Amino acid sequence: MTLVVDHLAELTGFRDRDVLDVMLVSALRDLMRPLSLGIYRVVGDAKRQHWLTRARIGEHDTAAAADPLWSELEDLPAIDACPERATCLREERLVEHASAAAGEPTRLLFPIVSEHEAAGVLEIETVAPMPEEQRRTVQGILRIYRNFQSLLDYSERDTLTGLLNRKTFDECFLRLAVEAANGLLARAQGGGRRQGTGAHVFLGVIDIDHFKRVNDTHGHLIGDEVLLLLSRQLRACFRFYDHLFRFGGEEFVVLLRCARGDVAMDIFERLRAAVAGYTFPRVGQVTVSVGISALRGGDTPSAAFERADKALYWAKQHGRNQVADFEALVQAGELADSSRASDVELF
Ligand code: GH3
Ligand code: MG
Ligand code: MG
Repeated sequence: MTLVVDHLAELTGFRDRDVLDVMLVSALRDLMRPLSLGIYRVVGDAKRQHWLTRARIGEHDTAAAADPLWSELEDLPAIDACPERATCLREERLVEHASAAAGEPTRLLFPIVSEHEAAGVLEIETVAPMPEEQRRTVQGILRIYRNFQSLLDYSERDTLTGLLNRKTFDECFLRLAVEAANGLLARAQGGGRRQGTGAHVFLGVIDIDHFKRVNDTHGHLIGDEVLLLLSRQLRACFRFYDHLFRFGGEEFVVLLRCARGDVAMDIFERLRAAVAGYTFPRVGQVTVSVGISALRGGDTPSAAFERADKALYWAKQHGRNQVADFEALVQAGELADSSRASDVELF
Protein backbone atom coordinates (compact mmCIF):
# COMPACT_ATOMS: atom_id res chain seq x y z
CA MET A 1 0.00 0.00 0.00
CA THR A 2 2.83 2.41 0.91
CA LEU A 3 4.43 1.61 -2.43
CA VAL A 4 1.22 2.60 -4.25
CA VAL A 5 1.04 5.87 -2.33
CA ASP A 6 4.72 6.59 -3.07
CA HIS A 7 4.20 6.04 -6.76
CA LEU A 8 1.08 8.16 -6.85
CA ALA A 9 2.92 10.97 -5.08
CA GLU A 10 5.67 10.77 -7.68
CA LEU A 11 3.25 10.56 -10.60
CA THR A 12 1.31 13.65 -9.55
CA GLY A 13 4.51 15.56 -8.70
CA PHE A 14 5.23 16.09 -12.40
CA ARG A 15 3.61 18.76 -14.49
CA ASP A 16 5.17 17.72 -17.75
CA ARG A 17 2.66 15.71 -19.80
CA ASP A 18 5.40 14.17 -21.89
CA VAL A 19 6.78 12.27 -18.94
CA LEU A 20 3.47 11.34 -17.33
CA ASP A 21 3.00 8.17 -19.37
CA VAL A 22 6.56 7.10 -18.63
CA MET A 23 5.95 7.66 -14.94
CA LEU A 24 2.74 5.67 -15.08
CA VAL A 25 4.23 2.56 -16.72
CA SER A 26 7.26 2.67 -14.42
CA ALA A 27 5.02 2.89 -11.35
CA LEU A 28 2.78 0.01 -12.48
CA ARG A 29 5.77 -2.13 -13.40
CA ASP A 30 7.23 -1.72 -9.91
CA LEU A 31 3.88 -2.51 -8.36
CA MET A 32 2.97 -5.67 -10.26
CA ARG A 33 6.10 -6.86 -12.05
CA PRO A 34 4.39 -7.98 -15.29
CA LEU A 35 6.28 -9.21 -18.38
CA SER A 36 5.77 -5.87 -20.08
CA LEU A 37 3.67 -2.74 -19.92
CA GLY A 38 2.95 -0.13 -22.55
CA ILE A 39 0.87 2.97 -23.22
CA TYR A 40 -0.07 3.47 -26.85
CA ARG A 41 -1.98 6.48 -28.12
CA VAL A 42 -3.82 7.08 -31.37
CA VAL A 43 -2.44 9.91 -33.50
CA GLY A 44 -3.25 11.21 -36.95
CA ASP A 45 -6.57 12.23 -38.44
CA ALA A 46 -9.82 10.32 -38.91
CA LYS A 47 -8.58 8.76 -42.15
CA ARG A 48 -5.06 7.87 -41.06
CA GLN A 49 -4.87 6.68 -37.48
CA HIS A 50 -1.67 5.20 -36.08
CA TRP A 51 -0.32 3.95 -32.76
CA LEU A 52 2.31 6.06 -31.05
CA THR A 53 4.18 4.28 -28.27
CA ARG A 54 4.19 6.77 -25.44
CA ALA A 55 5.97 4.50 -22.99
CA ARG A 56 6.88 0.83 -22.89
CA ILE A 57 8.82 -1.08 -20.29
CA GLY A 58 9.77 -4.77 -20.12
CA GLU A 59 10.38 -6.95 -17.12
CA HIS A 60 14.14 -6.38 -17.09
CA ASP A 61 14.35 -2.87 -18.55
CA THR A 62 15.81 -0.19 -16.35
CA ALA A 63 13.94 2.61 -18.11
CA ALA A 64 10.85 2.96 -20.32
CA ALA A 65 11.26 3.50 -24.06
CA ALA A 66 9.02 5.67 -26.25
CA ASP A 67 8.62 6.69 -29.89
CA PRO A 68 10.17 10.08 -30.61
CA LEU A 69 7.64 12.86 -30.06
CA TRP A 70 8.13 13.93 -33.64
CA SER A 71 7.49 10.58 -35.26
CA GLU A 72 6.21 10.59 -38.80
CA LEU A 73 2.78 8.95 -39.10
CA GLU A 74 3.96 6.60 -41.85
CA ASP A 75 6.58 5.12 -39.53
CA LEU A 76 4.02 4.12 -36.89
CA PRO A 77 1.79 1.00 -36.96
CA ALA A 78 -1.66 1.62 -38.43
CA ILE A 79 -4.60 1.35 -36.02
CA ASP A 80 -5.80 -1.94 -37.54
CA ALA A 81 -2.40 -3.55 -37.09
CA CYS A 82 -3.32 -3.98 -33.41
CA PRO A 83 -7.00 -5.06 -33.41
CA GLU A 84 -7.21 -5.71 -29.65
CA ARG A 85 -6.06 -2.19 -28.86
CA ALA A 86 -8.50 -0.81 -31.43
CA THR A 87 -11.39 -2.76 -29.83
CA CYS A 88 -10.39 -1.63 -26.33
CA LEU A 89 -10.47 1.98 -27.44
CA ARG A 90 -13.53 1.87 -29.67
CA GLU A 91 -15.67 0.11 -27.08
CA GLU A 92 -13.96 1.83 -24.15
CA ARG A 93 -13.75 -1.39 -22.20
CA LEU A 94 -11.20 -3.73 -20.72
CA VAL A 95 -10.08 -6.35 -23.25
CA GLU A 96 -8.43 -9.59 -22.21
CA HIS A 97 -6.46 -11.76 -24.57
CA ALA A 98 -5.89 -15.08 -22.87
CA SER A 99 -3.13 -17.22 -24.30
CA ALA A 100 -4.21 -19.98 -26.66
CA ALA A 101 -1.24 -22.16 -25.83
CA ALA A 102 0.13 -22.95 -22.38
CA GLY A 103 3.09 -20.81 -21.40
CA GLU A 104 2.11 -17.90 -23.60
CA PRO A 105 1.50 -14.59 -21.87
CA THR A 106 -1.91 -13.07 -21.18
CA ARG A 107 -2.58 -9.52 -22.36
CA LEU A 108 -4.89 -7.13 -20.59
CA LEU A 109 -5.83 -3.82 -22.20
CA PHE A 110 -7.34 -0.86 -20.36
CA PRO A 111 -8.71 2.16 -22.25
CA ILE A 112 -7.29 5.61 -21.40
CA VAL A 113 -9.59 8.36 -22.50
CA SER A 114 -9.23 12.00 -21.50
CA GLU A 115 -10.87 15.09 -22.88
CA HIS A 116 -7.93 16.70 -24.65
CA GLU A 117 -5.16 14.13 -24.88
CA ALA A 118 -5.10 11.57 -27.69
CA ALA A 119 -7.01 8.49 -26.56
CA GLY A 120 -4.94 5.44 -25.81
CA VAL A 121 -4.64 2.05 -24.17
CA LEU A 122 -2.60 0.61 -21.37
CA GLU A 123 -1.47 -2.88 -22.31
CA ILE A 124 -0.14 -5.26 -19.65
CA GLU A 125 1.40 -8.63 -20.43
CA THR A 126 1.49 -11.14 -17.60
CA VAL A 127 2.42 -14.82 -17.25
CA ALA A 128 -0.89 -15.72 -15.62
CA PRO A 129 -4.27 -13.91 -15.77
CA MET A 130 -4.21 -10.83 -13.55
CA PRO A 131 -6.12 -11.31 -10.25
CA GLU A 132 -9.27 -9.23 -9.82
CA GLU A 133 -7.80 -7.17 -6.99
CA GLN A 134 -4.82 -6.11 -9.12
CA ARG A 135 -7.15 -5.13 -11.95
CA ARG A 136 -9.03 -2.89 -9.56
CA THR A 137 -5.75 -1.32 -8.42
CA VAL A 138 -4.80 -0.56 -12.04
CA GLN A 139 -8.23 0.93 -12.69
CA GLY A 140 -7.98 3.05 -9.55
CA ILE A 141 -4.56 4.38 -10.54
CA LEU A 142 -5.85 5.14 -14.03
CA ARG A 143 -8.69 7.15 -12.49
CA ILE A 144 -6.24 9.20 -10.43
CA TYR A 145 -4.10 9.68 -13.53
CA ARG A 146 -7.15 10.93 -15.48
CA ASN A 147 -8.15 13.33 -12.71
CA PHE A 148 -4.62 14.68 -12.59
CA GLN A 149 -4.66 15.25 -16.34
CA SER A 150 -7.94 17.16 -15.99
CA LEU A 151 -6.27 19.39 -13.42
CA LEU A 152 -3.35 20.00 -15.77
CA ASP A 153 -5.82 20.81 -18.55
CA TYR A 154 -7.58 23.26 -16.30
CA SER A 155 -4.40 25.23 -15.69
CA GLU A 156 -2.83 24.88 -19.14
CA ARG A 157 -5.73 25.03 -21.56
CA ASP A 158 -8.11 27.67 -22.77
CA THR A 159 -11.62 26.83 -21.60
CA LEU A 160 -13.45 27.79 -24.80
CA THR A 161 -11.30 26.00 -27.39
CA GLY A 162 -9.30 23.47 -25.35
CA LEU A 163 -6.11 24.73 -27.01
CA LEU A 164 -3.07 25.48 -24.85
CA ASN A 165 -3.19 28.87 -23.17
CA ARG A 166 -0.68 31.68 -23.29
CA LYS A 167 0.71 30.81 -19.86
CA THR A 168 2.16 27.55 -21.17
CA PHE A 169 3.70 29.11 -24.27
CA ASP A 170 7.14 30.13 -22.96
CA GLU A 171 7.88 26.75 -21.41
CA CYS A 172 6.73 24.91 -24.50
CA PHE A 173 8.69 27.23 -26.78
CA LEU A 174 11.94 26.75 -24.89
CA ARG A 175 11.56 22.97 -24.81
CA LEU A 176 10.93 22.89 -28.55
CA ALA A 177 13.84 25.23 -29.27
CA VAL A 178 16.21 22.93 -27.37
CA GLU A 179 14.86 19.85 -29.18
CA ALA A 180 15.23 21.61 -32.53
CA ALA A 181 18.78 22.67 -31.74
CA ASN A 182 19.66 19.10 -30.70
CA GLY A 183 18.10 17.76 -33.90
CA LEU A 184 20.08 20.15 -36.04
CA LEU A 185 23.22 19.27 -34.13
CA ALA A 186 22.65 15.56 -34.65
CA ARG A 187 22.24 16.14 -38.37
CA ALA A 188 25.30 18.36 -38.57
CA GLN A 189 27.29 15.57 -36.95
CA GLY A 190 25.90 13.03 -39.41
CA GLY A 191 23.64 11.53 -36.78
CA GLY A 192 21.93 9.34 -39.38
CA ARG A 193 18.71 11.33 -39.40
CA ARG A 194 16.78 10.49 -42.50
CA GLN A 195 14.70 12.93 -44.46
CA GLY A 196 11.49 13.77 -42.60
CA THR A 197 13.06 14.12 -39.20
CA GLY A 198 14.50 17.58 -39.75
CA ALA A 199 14.18 20.18 -37.10
CA HIS A 200 12.89 23.43 -38.51
CA VAL A 201 10.50 25.10 -36.12
CA PHE A 202 8.24 27.98 -37.10
CA LEU A 203 6.11 30.25 -35.05
CA GLY A 204 2.88 31.36 -36.70
CA VAL A 205 0.50 34.01 -35.37
CA ILE A 206 -3.03 33.74 -36.71
CA ASP A 207 -5.51 36.57 -36.29
CA ILE A 208 -9.11 36.66 -37.52
CA ASP A 209 -9.80 39.48 -39.97
CA HIS A 210 -12.40 42.04 -38.92
CA PHE A 211 -13.56 39.90 -36.05
CA LYS A 212 -15.05 42.89 -34.33
CA ARG A 213 -17.58 43.06 -37.14
CA VAL A 214 -18.59 39.43 -36.50
CA ASN A 215 -19.28 40.28 -32.86
CA ASP A 216 -21.01 43.56 -33.69
CA THR A 217 -23.25 41.97 -36.33
CA HIS A 218 -24.01 38.59 -34.76
CA GLY A 219 -23.20 38.99 -31.06
CA HIS A 220 -20.53 37.52 -28.80
CA LEU A 221 -22.03 34.03 -28.60
CA ILE A 222 -21.84 33.54 -32.33
CA GLY A 223 -18.37 35.11 -32.21
CA ASP A 224 -17.36 32.47 -29.67
CA GLU A 225 -18.70 29.76 -31.94
CA VAL A 226 -16.46 31.06 -34.74
CA LEU A 227 -13.48 30.83 -32.38
CA LEU A 228 -14.39 27.26 -31.50
CA LEU A 229 -14.82 26.21 -35.13
CA LEU A 230 -11.56 27.88 -36.07
CA SER A 231 -9.75 25.96 -33.33
CA ARG A 232 -11.10 22.74 -34.86
CA GLN A 233 -9.74 23.75 -38.25
CA LEU A 234 -6.38 24.41 -36.66
CA ARG A 235 -6.37 20.92 -35.14
CA ALA A 236 -7.26 19.37 -38.47
CA CYS A 237 -4.57 21.30 -40.34
CA PHE A 238 -1.61 20.58 -38.10
CA ARG A 239 0.12 17.41 -36.94
CA PHE A 240 -0.29 15.86 -33.51
CA TYR A 241 3.18 17.04 -32.49
CA ASP A 242 2.60 20.69 -33.39
CA HIS A 243 1.59 22.96 -30.52
CA LEU A 244 -1.53 25.09 -30.80
CA PHE A 245 -2.28 27.99 -28.48
CA ARG A 246 -5.06 30.47 -28.10
CA PHE A 247 -3.22 33.60 -27.09
CA GLY A 248 -6.35 35.42 -26.06
CA GLY A 249 -9.16 37.08 -27.98
CA GLU A 250 -9.13 36.05 -31.61
CA GLU A 251 -5.41 35.43 -31.83
CA PHE A 252 -3.88 31.96 -32.13
CA VAL A 253 -0.26 30.83 -32.13
CA VAL A 254 1.18 27.67 -33.66
CA LEU A 255 4.60 26.17 -33.03
CA LEU A 256 5.08 24.14 -36.16
CA ARG A 257 7.82 21.67 -36.77
CA CYS A 258 8.56 20.62 -40.32
CA ALA A 259 11.22 18.73 -42.17
CA ARG A 260 12.02 21.49 -44.65
CA GLY A 261 11.86 25.20 -44.02
CA ASP A 262 10.16 25.98 -47.32
CA VAL A 263 7.08 23.85 -46.59
CA ALA A 264 6.02 25.89 -43.55
CA MET A 265 4.59 28.55 -45.83
CA ASP A 266 2.55 25.93 -47.70
CA ILE A 267 1.14 24.51 -44.46
CA PHE A 268 -0.01 27.90 -43.16
CA GLU A 269 -1.31 28.75 -46.62
CA ARG A 270 -3.37 25.55 -46.56
CA LEU A 271 -4.88 26.66 -43.25
CA ARG A 272 -5.64 30.13 -44.60
CA ALA A 273 -7.34 28.65 -47.67
CA ALA A 274 -9.29 26.11 -45.56
CA VAL A 275 -10.67 28.88 -43.33
CA ALA A 276 -11.53 31.14 -46.28
CA GLY A 277 -13.28 28.25 -48.04
CA TYR A 278 -15.41 27.27 -45.04
CA THR A 279 -18.91 28.56 -44.49
CA PHE A 280 -19.34 29.37 -40.78
CA PRO A 281 -22.92 28.81 -39.59
CA ARG A 282 -24.88 32.10 -39.60
CA VAL A 283 -21.72 34.16 -40.21
CA GLY A 284 -20.68 32.89 -43.62
CA GLN A 285 -17.13 33.59 -44.72
CA VAL A 286 -14.40 34.45 -42.24
CA THR A 287 -10.77 34.99 -43.17
CA VAL A 288 -7.53 35.00 -41.22
CA SER A 289 -4.19 36.74 -41.64
CA VAL A 290 -1.04 34.91 -40.62
CA GLY A 291 2.49 36.02 -39.78
CA ILE A 292 5.26 33.43 -39.54
CA SER A 293 8.90 33.39 -38.57
CA ALA A 294 11.51 30.63 -38.28
CA LEU A 295 13.02 29.99 -34.87
CA ARG A 296 16.66 30.96 -34.57
CA GLY A 297 19.45 29.67 -32.38
CA GLY A 298 19.28 31.41 -29.02
CA ASP A 299 15.80 32.76 -29.72
CA THR A 300 13.56 33.92 -26.91
CA PRO A 301 9.78 33.38 -26.98
CA SER A 302 9.12 37.10 -27.09
CA ALA A 303 11.66 37.80 -29.87
CA ALA A 304 10.24 35.04 -32.10
CA PHE A 305 6.68 36.16 -31.38
CA GLU A 306 7.54 39.76 -32.18
CA ARG A 307 8.96 38.84 -35.61
CA ALA A 308 5.89 36.78 -36.53
CA ASP A 309 3.65 39.55 -35.21
CA LYS A 310 5.39 42.12 -37.41
CA ALA A 311 4.75 39.90 -40.43
CA LEU A 312 1.12 39.59 -39.32
CA TYR A 313 0.82 43.35 -39.07
CA TRP A 314 2.25 43.62 -42.59
CA ALA A 315 -0.37 41.12 -43.83
CA LYS A 316 -3.13 43.20 -42.18
CA GLN A 317 -1.81 46.36 -43.83
CA HIS A 318 -1.63 44.70 -47.23
CA GLY A 319 -5.14 43.38 -47.72
CA ARG A 320 -5.56 40.67 -45.00
CA ASN A 321 -6.50 37.03 -45.82
CA GLN A 322 -2.86 36.14 -46.49
CA VAL A 323 0.22 34.54 -44.97
CA ALA A 324 3.31 36.70 -44.56
CA ASP A 325 6.78 35.33 -43.82
CA PHE A 326 8.97 37.63 -41.74
CA GLU A 327 12.26 36.44 -43.25
CA ALA A 328 10.97 36.79 -46.83
CA LEU A 329 9.69 40.30 -46.07
CA VAL A 330 13.08 41.29 -44.65
CA GLN A 331 14.79 39.96 -47.76
CA ALA A 332 12.39 41.88 -49.96
CA GLY A 333 13.19 45.06 -48.02
CA GLU A 334 9.62 45.35 -46.71
CA LEU A 335 10.55 44.90 -43.04
CA ALA A 336 13.63 45.64 -40.99
CA ASP A 337 15.13 42.91 -38.85
CA SER A 338 15.86 44.83 -35.68
CA SER A 339 17.31 41.82 -33.85
CA ARG A 340 19.87 41.31 -36.63
CA ALA A 341 20.69 45.04 -36.51
CA SER A 342 21.38 44.86 -32.80
CA ASP A 343 23.53 41.73 -33.38
CA VAL A 344 25.64 43.78 -35.75
CA GLU A 345 25.93 46.62 -33.28
CA LEU A 346 27.31 44.20 -30.71
CA PHE A 347 30.33 43.32 -32.84
P1 GH3 B 1 -8.28 43.03 -37.76
O1 GH3 B 1 -8.63 42.46 -39.08
O2 GH3 B 1 -7.43 44.24 -37.87
O3 GH3 B 1 -7.68 42.02 -36.87
O4 GH3 B 1 -9.65 43.51 -37.11
P2 GH3 B 1 -10.39 42.92 -35.84
O5 GH3 B 1 -11.72 43.53 -35.75
O6 GH3 B 1 -10.36 41.44 -35.86
O7 GH3 B 1 -9.38 43.32 -34.70
P3 GH3 B 1 -9.49 44.01 -33.32
O8 GH3 B 1 -8.26 43.63 -32.57
O9 GH3 B 1 -9.77 45.44 -33.51
O10 GH3 B 1 -10.72 43.33 -32.61
C1 GH3 B 1 -10.68 42.10 -32.02
C2 GH3 B 1 -12.05 41.82 -31.52
O11 GH3 B 1 -12.11 40.48 -31.05
C3 GH3 B 1 -12.48 42.67 -30.35
C4 GH3 B 1 -13.47 41.80 -29.64
O12 GH3 B 1 -14.77 42.18 -30.04
C5 GH3 B 1 -13.23 40.42 -30.18
N1 GH3 B 1 -12.93 39.43 -29.15
C6 GH3 B 1 -11.83 39.33 -28.39
N2 GH3 B 1 -11.93 38.27 -27.56
C7 GH3 B 1 -13.11 37.67 -27.79
C8 GH3 B 1 -13.79 36.51 -27.27
O13 GH3 B 1 -13.31 35.80 -26.38
N3 GH3 B 1 -15.01 36.21 -27.77
C9 GH3 B 1 -15.56 36.96 -28.77
N4 GH3 B 1 -16.75 36.61 -29.22
N5 GH3 B 1 -14.96 38.05 -29.26
C10 GH3 B 1 -13.75 38.40 -28.80
MG1 MG C 1 -8.46 40.46 -35.75
MG1 MG D 1 -6.35 40.73 -32.79
